Amino acid sequence: MLDWVIVGGGIHGTYASNQILKAGRANPEKVLVIDPHDRPLAVWKLCTENTGMEFLRSPAEHNLDAGSGALKRFARERASGAAEFYSKYKRPSLRLFNAHCDHVVDSGNLSTMRHNASALSLSRKGKSYIVTTTEGEFESKRVILGIGMADCLSMPAWAKELHAVSPIVHVFSTDFAAAAAREWSKVVVVGGGISAMQVALSLSKKRPGQVTMLHSREFKIKQFDADPCWLGPKCLNLLAREANFVERRRRVDSARHWGSFPEDVRRQAHGAMISKTISFVENSVVSASGDSGSVRLTLEDQSLIEADLVVLATGFERCLPGGALVRQAIDEMNLPCAPCGFPVLDKYLRWSDGLFVTGALAELVIGPASRNIIGARMASERIISADIPRPYRPRELSYYYYRSRRTG
Ligand SMILES: Cc1cc2nc3c(=O)[nH]c(=O)nc-3n(C[C@H](O)[C@H](O)[C@H](O)COP(=O)(O)OP(=O)(O)OC[C@H]3O[C@@H](n4cnc5c(N)ncnc54)[C@H](O)[C@@H]3O)c2cc1C
Repeated sequence: MLDWVIVGGGIHGTYASNQILKAGRANPEKVLVIDPHDRPLAVWKLCTENTGMEFLRSPAEHNLDAGSGALKRFARERASGAAEFYSKYKRPSLRLFNAHCDHVVDSGNLSTMRHNASALSLSRKGKSYIVTTTEGEFESKRVILGIGMADCLSMPAWAKELHAVSPIVHVFSTDFAAAAAREWSKVVVVGGGISAMQVALSLSKKRPGQVTMLHSREFKIKQFDADPCWLGPKCLNLLAREANFVERRRRVDSARHWGSFPEDVRRQAHGAMISKTISFVENSVVSASGDSGSVRLTLEDQSLIEADLVVLATGFERCLPGGALVRQAIDEMNLPCAPCGFPVLDKYLRWSDGLFVTGALAELVIGPASRNIIGARMASERIISADIPRPYRPRELSYYYYRSRRTG
């Protein structure tokens, strides 16, 4: 029998597997990470590469290793210059962050724990769990669900049917790279958040003047996607004390700066507007038509935009992650859910004895940072502390994380 099965080998699942080993909670042969992709962090790499982003939004302290200083140390050892970090927050370049992730995976032999499969169902057998996958069945004392949002891509209603027959692609889909590499003369990027802006900037570098960005509201400028107060007890204790889950959901949603981007991205967008490499249109699509080579978008003011490629940078739906697997587990084990459908958890992110969640599924406890890289650390600390007398703390403390605790 295994000690831990982790479903999902993205940022969160990989982080959890690394921490379980580092905290001495299991031997590697007793931990299994189930994920359908050949390489760890495949969804992260796909989404971030597709946007063309050069720097992460989060600081270097938020990384895949146990210590908050690990990424900076890695950069020093590689003799990477200051160009690998941006701004006073030391936001790492995507290239550096990914190289560090690969280093963490290789040096921790984390790939050896991976099993290439999709989990199909989850059930109880006495005190343990049976995870049925496309490639076999596994029994484990504990299970962590680290399933991201990839099956919850948001698509406007007008695009849902049309995208099967017309050149419409979501920036986080596997089809994006091929679509963007094709010959196109006019692309419309739909969306107004950070990914929309980054993909518009990236496409405009290839074909200046041939990119239109269609956004439905004014741009929102925020350094981070939530206030750093949400990384510590000051805000999280307030959330934990809220017994009404409708109100909890409201607090989490209103704390997240949906569709925002930081000042440096705004400056690049301003430059693109002045140099006319990108045209900006503030309006909404009311209807669309198209064929295999083009799409015509009718806007609220009845104006028309025609394009031979439409890129949807409309993010993720606010749906329950995990699709059929999570719905089956809820039904089979009668797991408690809030009115929004998300898990009701204890402070250790335990959904039921031995069953834990991390990432978006842990949002009602970890708050708006739950989906982020730092959310993986916050979740793993709690999960690893369950069933042991003293809470687990990684040896190296994160400046931002613990400063927010002191002010709490
Ligand atoms: C473009 C972009 C930029 C971002 N930038 C930042 C940033 O700068 N800083 C930050 O903190 N956060 C950032 N984020 C947010 C967050 O860190 C990422 O979304 C991160 O990838 C979430 O990790 P995850 O493990 O929860 O999900 P994922 O990376 O999606 O991984 C989940 C894995 O679970 C697998 N899976 C799903 N269902 C099953 C199943 N049934 N069986 C087995 N496996 C399954 C999936 O295939 C996938 O491999 C960004 C997100 C995006 C999209």
